[in-house]
Parts: sequence; structure tokens; C-alpha cells
Amino acid sequence: MSNGKYFVGLDVGGTTMKAAVVSDSGQPKPSVVLPTEAAKGQEHGLSQMCKAIQQATQAAGLTMADISGIGVATPGTMDIAAGIILDPPNLKPWKNVPVKQHIQNYFQIPTAFQNDANAAAFGEFWVGAGKGTKSLVMFTLGTGVGGGIIVNGRVVEGEHSHGGEIGHMKIEMSNPRQCGCGRYGCLEAYASATAVVKRAQELLATKIKGPSLLREILQNSKEELPARAVFEAAEKGDEYAKEVIDRTAFYLAVGTTNIMHTINPDMIVFGGGMTAAGTSFLQQIRNYVNQLAFPVPAERTRVVYASLGSDAGFIGAAGCAKQLVLDQ
Ligand SMILES: [Zn+2]
Repeated sequence: MSNGKYFVGLDVGGTTMKAAVVSDSGQPKPSVVLPTEAAKGQEHGLSQMCKAIQQATQAAGLTMADISGIGVATPGTMDIAAGIILDPPNLKPWKNVPVKQHIQNYFQIPTAFQNDANAAAFGEFWVGAGKGTKSLVMFTLGTGVGGGIIVNGRVVEGEHSHGGEIGHMKIEMSNPRQCGCGRYGCLEAYASATAVVKRAQELLATKIKGPSLLREILQNSKEELPARAVFEAAEKGDEYAKEVIDRTAFYLAVGTTNIMHTINPDMIVFGGGMTAAGTSFLQQIRNYVNQLAFPVPAERTRVVYASLGSDAGFIGAAGCAKQLVLDQ
């Protein structure tokens, strides 16, 4: 029997999956990364997941007998309680994949299943930026805007597994932009890395004639989604880039204020690639929050950057496994 000290966390993404053993106190062992290869079908995907869990256990110098629980985080859409991925846009052509049941049957170890953004929020809550808080809401700023809500130490999954979809809260309904989800006016359409780049390119196409620092930096960027280039141009004084970044901070502050006025958590955490922008961006968000929010939450809610980076997902998944085992 297991000694109750180790959990495996697995974070499945569109291109790769990352797994590691995590101790009872949230300390990760060396992680392993395997290709997801979604296009090869869901049976293959499930076998990759089992392989990643086994390899992570080996990498920690342990055997499956040492593992008390397994936590798996995946992108949606999903039925969290049933442990099923339904129709995931990032894992085509998978449909109705019984992840939790498959892994639990395969290893005969209690298995928790969670949305990847919820898991990342739980990781930050457990041992990251939010360690010691009771409630936290996390925005993950990447290609889209992911979200996770932790209240009284629990992930808010919602009745239909759609809790925490704070990237799709409506923040602009007058001439709204279309979101990655197909709907209009969502935070993601204004504050994701995709949105930052898109708005910069729109300005270049319509308002900026002739040479421009923003154009130069954007064109020289080797990144697929060069949001960082827009931040760099803003830092170097480009007025248009500054405007894009300022509006991004404003919309994130609108989202943050809505969260303060509905959930009133201890802490708001920003994670994802865009946090490389540094503390001045965070300060811009805070300044707008101070204008928009009620004085008490504006003053008392800590607004910070995440601290676990891309490990938050598997650490949080392992934390969910620990919670599952404690609940049993
Ligand atoms: Zn949306």
C-alpha cells in the first residue's frame, strides 16, 4: 500500500503533456514531457497519458505502489464530475473521452480530473503565489484568457463544468470584438496575447503612416504571437504600442473589478506568457482597479503575478488528487 506522501500530476495540452510526482507538501520531482499527438486519436492519447504517469513516477525514483493519487488536467470542453473530455477544440478529433475512468482502471489508484486552467489556479493557491490564502482567482494570459476560481480551498467547477470561465466574461458590448469562442465582447477578445498583437496590427494598418518603432519591432520578432514585441515597443516609447498596452491593462482591470465585486477573493493572480511584461504592467492594472472598484476590495485584494510558471497545471492536478484522497 502507498504511504500517502506522493501524488502524480499530469497536465495535458494541445501539443504536449507534462507530468511529475508531487509530494504531500506540493514539492515537484523532475517532470517528463511527452507529445500529445491528438491527431492520432483518443486511444493513443490515453495511452500517452498512462505512459507519462509511469515515466514521471520512474523519474522520481518511485514505483506506482508509492503513489496515493493521480490528478489529470485537460483543456475543455468537459464534464468534470463525470471525468470526461467532451468535444475539445484543442484536441481534435477526440470526443467523449473517459479520462478519469480509464486512468483509474489502468492504475487502480484514485484519480482526480480537472480543467487545466482550474488546475493551474489550484496549483498557485496550494504552493504558488496564493499560498496561505483562502480564496484566489487566476487569469492565465496566453493565446486566450484562461481562468480558475478557488473559494474556501475548493475549485469552483460550477454545476455544468463552466465555473471559472472568466476569460469570457462580457466587458464590452458596444461594437464588441469577436472572441476565440465565437461570441462577442469577451475579456479574451481584448486582453489575450492574441488580442494585443491584433490591435497593434490594426493600428499599423489604419493609423500609422510611414516608419514606426512598433512596426519595426513587430516585424523583427521571431515569435509566433509577438505580444512581447508590443510591450517592448511601449517600453521604448512608441505611443501606439503604449496605447495598446494601456487599453489591455484597462480591460484586465474591468475583469478584475468584476471579480472583486462578485467573489471578493483574497487575491487575484495573473499568469501566462504575457506576465513577462514585468511589474509596470501589473501596476497599470492596479491603477485602473483603484479607479473602478469599491475602495475596500481595491485596497485589500492583492493583485499579483503567478509564481509557478508552466508547472502550475501539473502541481495543481496533483493537489486535486490529494484533496480527492483526503475527501475519501
Ligand atoms: Zn469568449
